[in-house]
Amino acid sequence: MTYDYDLFVIGGGSGGVRAARVAAADGVRVALAEEDRMGGTCVIRGCVPKKLMVFASEFSEAISDARAYGWDLADGKFDWSVFRTKLYAQLDFLEGVYRRMLDTSGVTTYNARATVKDAHHVALSTGEVISAGHILIATGGLPVRPDQQGAEFGITSNDIFLLEKLPASILIIGGGYIACEFAGILNGLGVRVTQFYRGEQILRGFDGEARGMIADQMRGRGVDLHCGTSILAMEKRDDGVWVKSSNGTEAVYERVLFATGRAPNTKGLGLAEAGVKLGRNGEVVVDGYSQSSVPSIYAVGDVTDRVQLTPVAIREGMAFVETVFRGNPTKVDHHLIPSAVFTQPEFGTIGLTEEAAREQEPIEVYVASFRPMQHSFVGRSDRALMKLIVSQATRKVLGCHIVADNAGEMIQLAGIAVKMGATKEDFDRTVAVHPTMAEELVTIKTPVRTA
Ligand code: NDP
Repeated sequence: MTYDYDLFVIGGGSGGVRAARVAAADGVRVALAEEDRMGGTCVIRGCVPKKLMVFASEFSEAISDARAYGWDLADGKFDWSVFRTKLYAQLDFLEGVYRRMLDTSGVTTYNARATVKDAHHVALSTGEVISAGHILIATGGLPVRPDQQGAEFGITSNDIFLLEKLPASILIIGGGYIACEFAGILNGLGVRVTQFYRGEQILRGFDGEARGMIADQMRGRGVDLHCGTSILAMEKRDDGVWVKSSNGTEAVYERVLFATGRAPNTKGLGLAEAGVKLGRNGEVVVDGYSQSSVPSIYAVGDVTDRVQLTPVAIREGMAFVETVFRGNPTKVDHHLIPSAVFTQPEFGTIGLTEEAAREQEPIEVYVASFRPMQHSFVGRSDRALMKLIVSQATRKVLGCHIVADNAGEMIQLAGIAVKMGATKEDFDRTVAVHPTMAEELVTIKTPVRTA
């Protein structure tokens, strides 16, 4: 049977676009439908605009630091509308790049919502029904609000970039990536930030020592962070949202931001009806090759709820093309993925936390915690952390955790060594680059503890 296309991709985010254009470049007949803007969460309402906001927010400290370094600078004021105009232009540009890449690879794009009709057919919101040999679900995820009275008065990360003006005050709910990143960003931009996290310490699942250090420094920079705290009641008021919390406070915040996780975007896609098995969170259940329970339907990226990171979605998209169109069955290796949380201070991490490694085997823990020269010169009390978790048996570095400016850049490179299975002695054999912060990773001589 001949289909209209060999491959129909639903979703124009990082994973979907990469799979579509790589397959099309190989001569596969590919179509892709996107109901919103091309580029998906990462480009339009996630990583890219977030990182630009991080850059914008860091100037508040840079100005006072510059003065301490001898520059004659007056305090400035951040103008959200100037930044936002520039941001939108940048996002328009990037969306154009994505569209052009698809066009030049020969992918047919549909600016429409697509739903799955059966194993080989999709229906578009335009009324068309299209057949395809394979269907790739790459619809990403959506922010979720807690199921509590008044939650509709809050915004999500999707709304942040669209705000007409920055609020004077904001309450951020959550202690994960998005909550902690936006706490730092908005604090840096001059917004009065309060953050409630229901658990004992923010950034659950990451290394305990790093979490503590980040929380302390977020507080030190002005974020009013309350752990073990939840919302008890919320009401809309003229000047914002009134919130009663479990720590006994009541206050009105101009905005409330729910950064309480993201859920796979599968609602109304017709997947279950087409026989595609969905998991508890609504995710498409896939095997190591990203194949769903319907053999012609695959899924990559956040919609599968494996590891919600752009580069992982891209890898899954590439592996899908290898598997299905190049006759080279390829699984994505989800082990030892480096990542960064763009908190202030920044956090880069790969491998096991100290807590998880202790459970696994006897370890040595190497820690350098110090005031970076750049900051101590201006009298700031910020500390950096370089931490290695080492297996006593194999000497392999099982985990590396960095809290420091540009920790994301550092962990990308340290991650190569860890992924290669480098031992502590391999790190030690590498000559230090001086004077840097990262040199501590190759100069820590004795473990601070064994376990
Ligand atoms: P996370 O899962 O990281 O964090 C969600 C937070 O919300 C947790 O602290 C969680 O608490 C809390 N929470 C969940 N439900 C409730 C509730 N009902 N009431 C109160 N608090 C609640 O999700 P994010 O939305 O921050 O980010 C989603 C994913 O996107 C991340 O996991 C990450 O993979 C990706 N991402 C990556 C970034 C990067 O690479 N830098 C940046 C941003 C996002 P608890 O810990 O108790 O469960």
